[in-house]
Amino acid sequence: MSTSISDFTIATLGSHTALQILKGAKDEGFRTLAIVTPQTRRVFESFPVADELIEISRFEDYFTIEDQLLAKNAIVIPHGSFVSYVGPENIKNMKAQYYGSKGILEWESDRTMEREWMKKAGLNLPKIYKKPEEIDRPVIIKFHGAKGGFGYFIANSPAEFYERIKEFPGQEDYAIQEYVVGVPMYAHYFYSALSGELEIMSFDKRYESNADSIGRIAAKDQLDANLRTSYTITGNIPIVVRESLLPMFFEIGESIVKQSKGLANCPKGLFGPFCLEGIIDPQLNYRVFEISARIVAGTNPYIEGSPYTAFRYKEPMSTGRRLAREIKQAIESGRLEDVLG
Ligand code: AMP
Repeated sequence: MSTSISDFTIATLGSHTALQILKGAKDEGFRTLAIVTPQTRRVFESFPVADELIEISRFEDYFTIEDQLLAKNAIVIPHGSFVSYVGPENIKNMKAQYYGSKGILEWESDRTMEREWMKKAGLNLPKIYKKPEEIDRPVIIKFHGAKGGFGYFIANSPAEFYERIKEFPGQEDYAIQEYVVGVPMYAHYFYSALSGELEIMSFDKRYESNADSIGRIAAKDQLDANLRTSYTITGNIPIVVRESLLPMFFEIGESIVKQSKGLANCPKGLFGPFCLEGIIDPQLNYRVFEISARIVAGTNPYIEGSPYTAFRYKEPMSTGRRLAREIKQAIESGRLEDVLG
Protein backbone atom coordinates (compact mmCIF):
# COMPACT_ATOMS: atom_id res chain seq x y z
CA MET A 1 0.00 0.00 0.00
CA SER A 2 1.38 3.37 -1.08
CA THR A 3 2.31 5.94 1.56
CA SER A 4 2.30 8.84 -0.90
CA ILE A 5 -0.84 10.91 -1.38
CA SER A 6 0.17 11.56 -5.00
CA ASP A 7 -0.98 7.99 -5.75
CA PHE A 8 -4.57 8.81 -4.74
CA THR A 9 -7.45 10.95 -5.99
CA ILE A 10 -10.22 12.28 -3.75
CA ALA A 11 -13.60 11.96 -5.49
CA THR A 12 -17.23 12.71 -4.74
CA LEU A 13 -20.56 13.42 -6.42
CA GLY A 14 -20.83 17.06 -7.45
CA SER A 15 -23.54 18.22 -5.02
CA HIS A 16 -24.24 18.86 -1.29
CA THR A 17 -20.77 19.51 0.23
CA ALA A 18 -18.68 18.61 -2.82
CA LEU A 19 -17.19 22.10 -3.21
CA GLN A 20 -15.99 22.05 0.38
CA ILE A 21 -14.72 18.45 0.28
CA LEU A 22 -12.75 18.96 -2.95
CA LYS A 23 -11.33 22.33 -1.94
CA GLY A 24 -10.27 20.83 1.39
CA ALA A 25 -8.62 17.89 -0.39
CA LYS A 26 -6.77 20.22 -2.76
CA ASP A 27 -5.59 22.34 0.18
CA GLU A 28 -4.12 19.17 1.67
CA GLY A 29 -2.32 18.40 -1.59
CA PHE A 30 -4.59 15.76 -3.15
CA ARG A 31 -5.66 15.40 -6.77
CA THR A 32 -9.44 15.83 -6.94
CA LEU A 33 -12.31 14.59 -9.09
CA ALA A 34 -15.99 15.58 -9.23
CA ILE A 35 -18.66 13.35 -10.73
CA VAL A 36 -21.10 15.79 -12.33
CA THR A 37 -24.34 15.75 -14.31
CA PRO A 38 -25.11 18.06 -17.25
CA GLN A 39 -27.03 20.25 -14.74
CA THR A 40 -24.21 20.55 -12.18
CA ARG A 41 -21.19 20.72 -14.51
CA ARG A 42 -21.37 24.52 -14.69
CA VAL A 43 -20.71 24.84 -10.95
CA PHE A 44 -17.47 22.88 -11.12
CA GLU A 45 -16.30 24.73 -14.19
CA SER A 46 -16.77 28.04 -12.42
CA PHE A 47 -15.38 27.00 -9.01
CA PRO A 48 -12.03 25.33 -9.68
CA VAL A 49 -11.98 22.73 -6.90
CA ALA A 50 -11.83 19.61 -9.09
CA ASP A 51 -8.80 18.71 -11.22
CA GLU A 52 -11.02 16.44 -13.26
CA LEU A 53 -14.73 16.02 -14.04
CA ILE A 54 -16.53 12.82 -15.01
CA GLU A 55 -20.04 13.41 -16.35
CA ILE A 56 -22.96 11.01 -15.96
CA SER A 57 -26.54 11.76 -16.96
CA ARG A 58 -27.95 11.13 -13.46
CA PHE A 59 -26.20 10.71 -10.08
CA GLU A 60 -28.08 7.42 -9.69
CA ASP A 61 -25.82 6.05 -12.50
CA TYR A 62 -22.77 6.14 -10.21
CA PHE A 63 -21.98 2.45 -10.74
CA THR A 64 -21.56 2.93 -14.51
CA ILE A 65 -18.36 4.94 -13.90
CA GLU A 66 -17.00 3.14 -10.84
CA ASP A 67 -14.36 1.30 -12.91
CA GLN A 68 -12.84 4.67 -13.84
CA LEU A 69 -12.57 5.53 -10.14
CA LEU A 70 -10.88 2.21 -9.42
CA ALA A 71 -8.36 2.86 -12.22
CA LYS A 72 -7.52 6.23 -10.66
CA ASN A 73 -7.13 4.75 -7.16
CA ALA A 74 -9.85 7.17 -6.01
CA ILE A 75 -11.05 7.47 -2.43
CA VAL A 76 -14.77 8.32 -2.53
CA ILE A 77 -16.15 10.69 0.11
CA PRO A 78 -19.84 10.13 0.93
CA HIS A 79 -22.11 13.09 1.71
CA GLY A 80 -25.88 13.48 2.19
CA SER A 81 -26.75 13.55 -1.51
CA PHE A 82 -24.33 10.72 -2.23
CA VAL A 83 -26.09 8.47 0.29
CA SER A 84 -29.51 9.47 -1.04
CA TYR A 85 -28.72 9.04 -4.78
CA VAL A 86 -26.66 5.85 -4.55
CA GLY A 87 -28.80 4.40 -1.73
CA PRO A 88 -27.52 3.10 1.63
CA GLU A 89 -28.10 -0.53 0.57
CA ASN A 90 -26.07 -0.12 -2.70
CA ILE A 91 -23.16 1.56 -0.92
CA LYS A 92 -22.33 -1.83 0.60
CA ASN A 93 -21.59 -3.07 -2.94
CA MET A 94 -19.18 -0.26 -3.80
CA LYS A 95 -15.78 -1.48 -4.93
CA ALA A 96 -14.03 1.90 -4.89
CA GLN A 97 -12.25 2.91 -1.70
CA TYR A 98 -14.86 4.52 0.56
CA TYR A 99 -14.10 6.93 3.41
CA GLY A 100 -16.11 6.16 6.55
CA SER A 101 -18.07 3.30 8.06
CA LYS A 102 -20.48 1.69 5.59
CA GLY A 103 -22.31 -0.24 8.33
CA ILE A 104 -23.31 2.95 10.15
CA LEU A 105 -25.56 4.01 7.24
CA GLU A 106 -28.02 1.28 8.09
CA TRP A 107 -28.26 2.67 11.62
CA GLU A 108 -28.71 6.30 10.62
CA SER A 109 -31.18 5.65 7.80
CA ASP A 110 -33.62 3.55 9.85
CA ARG A 111 -35.58 5.69 12.31
CA THR A 112 -36.09 2.86 14.82
CA MET A 113 -32.46 1.74 14.81
CA GLU A 114 -31.23 5.34 15.00
CA ARG A 115 -33.43 5.93 18.03
CA GLU A 116 -32.17 2.80 19.74
CA TRP A 117 -28.58 4.02 19.26
CA MET A 118 -29.39 7.54 20.55
CA LYS A 119 -31.24 6.11 23.56
CA LYS A 120 -28.28 3.90 24.47
CA ALA A 121 -26.10 7.00 24.33
CA GLY A 122 -28.40 8.65 26.88
CA LEU A 123 -29.59 11.47 24.62
CA ASN A 124 -32.76 13.41 25.42
CA LEU A 125 -35.16 12.43 22.62
CA PRO A 126 -38.57 13.84 21.70
CA LYS A 127 -41.35 11.44 22.67
CA ILE A 128 -42.63 9.06 19.96
CA TYR A 129 -46.35 8.29 19.84
CA LYS A 130 -47.24 4.76 18.81
CA LYS A 131 -50.89 5.56 18.03
CA PRO A 132 -52.57 8.80 16.86
CA GLU A 133 -55.10 8.37 19.71
CA GLU A 134 -52.30 9.13 22.18
CA ILE A 135 -51.63 12.62 20.81
CA ASP A 136 -51.89 14.98 23.80
CA ARG A 137 -49.69 17.91 22.69
CA PRO A 138 -48.30 19.34 19.45
CA VAL A 139 -46.71 16.60 17.35
CA ILE A 140 -44.84 16.56 14.05
CA ILE A 141 -45.65 13.81 11.56
CA LYS A 142 -42.63 12.72 9.56
CA PHE A 143 -43.01 10.53 6.50
CA HIS A 144 -40.20 8.09 5.93
CA GLY A 145 -37.91 9.29 3.16
CA ALA A 146 -39.58 12.74 3.00
CA LYS A 147 -37.00 14.83 1.18
CA GLY A 148 -35.81 17.85 3.14
CA GLY A 149 -38.75 17.89 5.52
CA PHE A 150 -41.27 18.47 2.72
CA GLY A 151 -44.73 17.11 3.57
CA TYR A 152 -44.24 17.00 7.34
CA PHE A 153 -47.25 18.30 9.21
CA ILE A 154 -48.16 19.35 12.73
CA ALA A 155 -51.20 18.12 14.66
CA ASN A 156 -52.42 18.98 18.14
CA SER A 157 -55.01 16.24 18.68
CA PRO A 158 -56.09 12.84 17.31
CA ALA A 159 -58.95 14.55 15.42
CA GLU A 160 -56.57 16.99 13.72
CA PHE A 161 -54.21 14.14 12.86
CA TYR A 162 -56.98 12.16 11.10
CA GLU A 163 -58.13 15.27 9.24
CA ARG A 164 -54.64 16.12 7.96
CA ILE A 165 -53.53 12.57 7.13
CA LYS A 166 -56.33 12.46 4.51
CA GLU A 167 -54.07 14.60 2.34
CA PHE A 168 -51.62 11.67 2.17
CA PRO A 169 -53.69 8.67 0.99
CA GLY A 170 -51.89 5.32 1.10
CA GLN A 171 -48.93 6.72 3.09
CA GLU A 172 -48.53 4.58 6.16
CA ASP A 173 -44.83 4.82 6.86
CA TYR A 174 -44.62 7.77 9.22
CA ALA A 175 -43.51 8.60 12.75
CA ILE A 176 -45.51 10.76 15.16
CA GLN A 177 -43.01 12.75 17.22
CA GLU A 178 -43.48 15.31 19.99
CA TYR A 179 -43.03 18.79 18.48
CA VAL A 180 -40.41 20.56 20.59
CA VAL A 181 -40.87 24.30 20.79
CA GLY A 182 -37.39 25.79 20.91
CA VAL A 183 -34.56 26.78 18.63
CA PRO A 184 -33.01 24.38 16.14
CA MET A 185 -29.32 23.69 16.64
CA TYR A 186 -27.19 21.31 14.60
CA ALA A 187 -23.83 20.27 16.05
CA HIS A 188 -21.06 19.28 13.64
CA TYR A 189 -18.40 16.92 14.92
CA PHE A 190 -15.30 15.16 13.68
CA TYR A 191 -14.14 11.97 15.36
CA SER A 192 -10.65 10.86 14.39
CA ALA A 193 -10.29 7.12 13.89
CA LEU A 194 -6.51 7.66 14.04
CA SER A 195 -6.19 9.59 17.30
CA GLY A 196 -9.47 8.61 18.98
CA GLU A 197 -10.25 12.28 19.65
CA LEU A 198 -13.59 14.06 19.15
CA GLU A 199 -13.57 17.64 17.80
CA ILE A 200 -16.43 20.12 17.67
CA MET A 201 -16.19 21.69 14.22
CA SER A 202 -19.13 24.12 14.08
CA PHE A 203 -22.88 24.64 14.51
CA ASP A 204 -25.65 25.76 12.19
CA LYS A 205 -29.36 26.07 11.85
CA ARG A 206 -31.27 25.45 8.67
CA TYR A 207 -33.11 28.08 6.72
CA GLU A 208 -36.41 26.37 6.02
CA SER A 209 -39.29 27.42 3.84
CA ASN A 210 -41.92 28.26 4.88
CA ALA A 211 -41.25 27.52 8.57
CA ASP A 212 -38.77 30.40 8.71
CA SER A 213 -41.03 32.85 6.91
CA ILE A 214 -44.41 32.44 8.58
CA GLY A 215 -43.36 34.82 11.36
CA ARG A 216 -42.92 37.58 8.76
CA ILE A 217 -46.66 38.01 8.43
CA ALA A 218 -49.18 38.86 11.16
CA ALA A 219 -51.04 36.01 12.90
CA LYS A 220 -54.29 37.11 11.25
CA ASP A 221 -52.71 36.91 7.80
CA GLN A 222 -51.27 33.50 8.62
CA LEU A 223 -54.76 32.24 9.44
CA ASP A 224 -56.33 33.89 6.37
CA ALA A 225 -53.69 32.38 4.08
CA ASN A 226 -54.54 28.89 5.42
CA LEU A 227 -50.84 28.01 5.43
CA ARG A 228 -49.34 24.59 6.00
CA THR A 229 -45.93 24.63 7.71
CA SER A 230 -43.19 23.04 5.63
CA TYR A 231 -39.52 22.50 6.40
CA THR A 232 -37.94 22.44 2.98
CA ILE A 233 -34.27 23.27 3.36
CA THR A 234 -33.05 26.22 1.33
CA GLY A 235 -29.74 26.99 3.04
CA ASN A 236 -27.80 27.01 6.30
CA ILE A 237 -27.07 29.75 8.82
CA PRO A 238 -23.97 29.71 11.06
CA ILE A 239 -24.40 29.75 14.83
CA VAL A 240 -22.09 30.23 17.79
CA VAL A 241 -23.58 28.53 20.83
CA ARG A 242 -23.77 29.84 24.35
CA GLU A 243 -20.39 28.79 25.71
CA SER A 244 -21.80 27.07 28.78
CA LEU A 245 -23.48 24.56 26.45
CA LEU A 246 -20.18 23.27 25.07
CA PRO A 247 -19.52 20.67 27.82
CA MET A 248 -22.92 19.11 27.07
CA PHE A 249 -22.18 19.04 23.33
CA PHE A 250 -18.83 17.30 23.94
CA GLU A 251 -20.45 14.81 26.30
CA ILE A 252 -23.24 13.73 23.95
CA GLY A 253 -20.92 13.59 20.92
CA GLU A 254 -18.53 11.33 22.81
CA SER A 255 -21.38 9.17 24.01
CA ILE A 256 -22.73 8.68 20.46
CA VAL A 257 -19.27 7.62 19.26
CA LYS A 258 -18.79 5.26 22.22
CA GLN A 259 -22.16 3.57 21.71
CA SER A 260 -21.53 3.20 17.97
CA LYS A 261 -18.67 0.79 18.69
CA GLY A 262 -21.02 -2.00 19.73
CA LEU A 263 -23.55 -1.62 16.90
CA ALA A 264 -24.30 -4.67 14.74
CA ASN A 265 -22.65 -4.88 11.30
CA CYS A 266 -20.52 -1.88 12.11
CA PRO A 267 -17.18 -3.16 13.40
CA LYS A 268 -15.34 0.18 13.25
CA GLY A 269 -18.24 2.20 14.70
CA LEU A 270 -18.81 5.83 13.74
CA PHE A 271 -15.83 7.96 12.69
CA GLY A 272 -15.12 11.03 10.59
CA PRO A 273 -17.61 13.89 10.35
CA PHE A 274 -21.12 13.55 11.81
CA CYS A 275 -23.91 15.77 13.06
CA LEU A 276 -26.47 15.75 15.86
CA GLU A 277 -29.70 17.53 14.98
CA GLY A 278 -32.03 18.84 17.63
CA ILE A 279 -33.88 21.64 19.34
CA ILE A 280 -32.89 23.55 22.49
CA ASP A 281 -35.89 24.26 24.67
CA PRO A 282 -36.19 27.16 27.16
CA GLN A 283 -34.90 24.95 30.00
CA LEU A 284 -31.75 24.44 27.85
CA ASN A 285 -32.51 20.78 27.24
CA TYR A 286 -31.10 19.62 23.91
CA ARG A 287 -33.76 17.38 22.38
CA VAL A 288 -32.11 15.40 19.60
CA PHE A 289 -34.19 14.05 16.74
CA GLU A 290 -31.57 12.86 14.27
CA ILE A 291 -27.97 11.80 13.63
CA SER A 292 -26.26 12.24 10.27
CA ALA A 293 -23.30 9.87 10.15
CA ARG A 294 -21.37 11.78 7.46
CA ILE A 295 -20.57 15.35 6.51
CA VAL A 296 -23.64 17.66 6.59
CA ALA A 297 -24.43 20.71 4.46
CA GLY A 298 -24.51 22.84 7.62
CA THR A 299 -20.69 22.85 7.52
CA ASN A 300 -20.75 24.74 4.20
CA PRO A 301 -20.62 28.26 5.71
CA TYR A 302 -17.23 27.36 7.21
CA ILE A 303 -14.97 26.92 4.17
CA GLU A 304 -12.48 29.25 5.87
CA GLY A 305 -12.92 27.52 9.22
CA SER A 306 -15.32 28.21 12.09
CA PRO A 307 -14.97 30.10 15.40
CA TYR A 308 -14.23 26.67 16.93
CA THR A 309 -11.68 25.37 14.43
CA ALA A 310 -9.80 28.67 14.91
CA PHE A 311 -8.91 27.50 18.44
CA ARG A 312 -7.24 24.28 17.25
CA TYR A 313 -5.81 25.10 13.85
CA LYS A 314 -3.50 27.81 12.57
CA GLU A 315 -4.91 27.49 9.06
CA PRO A 316 -8.53 27.70 7.83
CA MET A 317 -9.96 24.27 8.61
CA SER A 318 -13.27 23.28 7.05
CA THR A 319 -14.78 19.89 7.84
CA GLY A 320 -13.93 18.89 4.24
CA ARG A 321 -10.30 19.79 4.79
CA ARG A 322 -10.25 18.06 8.18
CA LEU A 323 -11.32 14.79 6.65
CA ALA A 324 -8.78 15.13 3.82
CA ARG A 325 -6.10 15.69 6.46
CA GLU A 326 -7.21 12.54 8.24
CA ILE A 327 -6.92 10.55 5.00
CA LYS A 328 -3.51 12.09 4.34
CA GLN A 329 -2.25 11.15 7.80
CA ALA A 330 -3.70 7.66 7.39
CA ILE A 331 -1.94 7.17 4.03
CA GLU A 332 1.38 8.53 5.27
CA SER A 333 1.37 6.37 8.39
CA GLY A 334 0.30 3.21 6.52
CA ARG A 335 -3.10 3.18 8.28
CA LEU A 336 -5.43 3.87 5.35
CA GLU A 337 -7.46 0.72 6.13
CA ASP A 338 -8.43 2.29 9.47
CA VAL A 339 -10.42 5.06 7.75
CA LEU A 340 -11.98 3.06 4.91
CA GLY A 341 -15.36 1.31 5.19
P1 AMP B 1 -35.74 16.36 9.82
O1 AMP B 1 -36.13 15.95 8.42
O2 AMP B 1 -36.02 15.28 10.84
O3 AMP B 1 -34.31 16.83 9.85
O4 AMP B 1 -36.64 17.63 10.21
C1 AMP B 1 -36.78 18.76 9.39
C2 AMP B 1 -37.08 19.98 10.22
O5 AMP B 1 -38.29 19.83 10.97
C3 AMP B 1 -36.02 20.31 11.24
O6 AMP B 1 -34.95 21.04 10.72
C4 AMP B 1 -36.78 21.09 12.29
O7 AMP B 1 -36.94 22.46 11.91
C5 AMP B 1 -38.15 20.46 12.25
N1 AMP B 1 -38.31 19.40 13.28
C6 AMP B 1 -38.03 18.08 13.13
N2 AMP B 1 -38.34 17.39 14.25
C7 AMP B 1 -38.80 18.28 15.14
C8 AMP B 1 -39.28 18.18 16.49
N3 AMP B 1 -39.37 17.01 17.13
N4 AMP B 1 -39.70 19.32 17.10
C9 AMP B 1 -39.63 20.51 16.45
N5 AMP B 1 -39.21 20.67 15.19
C10 AMP B 1 -38.79 19.59 14.53
